[in-house]
Amino acid sequence: MSKSFLIDTTLCTACRGCQVACKQWHDLPAEETVNRGSYQNPADLSFDTYKLVRMREEVIDGKLRWLFFPDQCRHCLEPPCRDTAGEPTAIFSESLSGAVIFTANTRDLDATEIRESCPYDIPRKAEDGTLAKCDMCSDRVENGLLPACVKVCPTGAMNFGDRVEILKLAQNQLNIAKKKFPAATLLDPGDVRTIYLVGFDPSHYHESAVASVNSYGISRQAALRKMFRPFASLVS
Ligand code: SF4
Ligand code: SF4
Ligand code: SF4
Repeated sequence: MSKSFLIDTTLCTACRGCQVACKQWHDLPAEETVNRGSYQNPADLSFDTYKLVRMREEVIDGKLRWLFFPDQCRHCLEPPCRDTAGEPTAIFSESLSGAVIFTANTRDLDATEIRESCPYDIPRKAEDGTLAKCDMCSDRVENGLLPACVKVCPTGAMNFGDRVEILKLAQNQLNIAKKKFPAATLLDPGDVRTIYLVGFDPSHYHESAVASVNSYGISRQAALRKMFRPFASLVS
């Protein structure tokens, strides 16, 4: 069954349980960091960090807001990274869940080209050129378990399940969020399997929160147009 995430950032407290659980499940090492005047740590995604709770302090309508954005691969329905690679042994979409998977064969690809093809700036490379990112915890999902980051989230911000149910949940959560955050919106729900709900304009959260314009012809405007397609056309 086709799967999706809903990440409701209006419920996120930045506890970073999801970030730690991702490292634990994938046996990824911690990274040495320095104090950069932010609680965001480490500074960016990396070959060893597939999930990063991004944090920003923004003044919106005269009020200081602390915004949290648990960033990860969007598992695009039509992934530009996969299409750019053109090599199914390196990057492929799982037929049941739709998870977009990178293998060790990514080391034979042009890592810069693959990263630049991603409208959300997700893939990161190791020194040997191998690329890595969130794999939807496909080993857990295949065995009927929730992704590790979803399993540990204590607030209900992280959700995962059949795509049709997640799309319904997203609409329900959006309706609830709009009562407190009138500008609340879903980010690119018709294009991705990791759907974010944000309370404010996405530009406040992260420069790659929505699909950016790139040489592969994907634009934020196109993504927003698709966002208003009829519900039925979003399910695939
Ligand atoms: Fe590929 Fe980027 Fe989409 Fe993830 S978000 S599937 S890395 S194009
Ligand atoms: Fe990490 Fe798994 Fe969550 Fe992806 S789904 S961010 S790999 S814990
Ligand atoms: Fe936010 Fe949940 Fe992650 Fe904690 S575990 S940082 S509440 S998404």
